[in-house]
Amino acid sequence: MAGEPDANCLFCKIVAGEVPATVVLETETTVAFRDINPQAPTHVLVIPRAHYPDAVSLAEGAPLIAADLLATAGVVAEREKVADTGYRIVLNTGAGAGQTVFHVHAHVLAGRGLEWPPG
Ligand code: 5GP
Ligand code: ZN
Repeated sequence: MAGEPDANCLFCKIVAGEVPATVVLETETTVAFRDINPQAPTHVLVIPRAHYPDAVSLAEGAPLIAADLLATAGVVAEREKVADTGYRIVLNTGAGAGQTVFHVHAHVLAGRGLEWPPG
């Protein structure tokens, strides 16, 4: 069922504490942790505790949690001291766009020049 944990999902295992992660912030509905393969000095992933495969399914199934996800990204940016200089929130959606983990996650990237358009 939408929102229920998926036993085969890596990020559900991080939420459950079954897989370790460097957690930087936890809220009632979200968890933020450092990406294992950082692409910028600040590279934090923000996920909902609930399992939704991508951003659109989260927005459709649990819009308040989708808002929490973005709000948590903003708090992470403040704590990482990149809120003033700027940061990028990325929601890769679908394999063709580079999504490899199908539990929605917002990448918070900052700390170096970020090109636009992205690769
Ligand atoms: P995607 O390519 O799906 O947008 O992003 C998945 C991200 O998850 C990648 O940036 C990858 O480095 C990160 N990742 C994959 N496995 C792990 C893990 O076990 N722990 C952490 N912290 N990050 C992971
Ligand atoms: Zn999951």
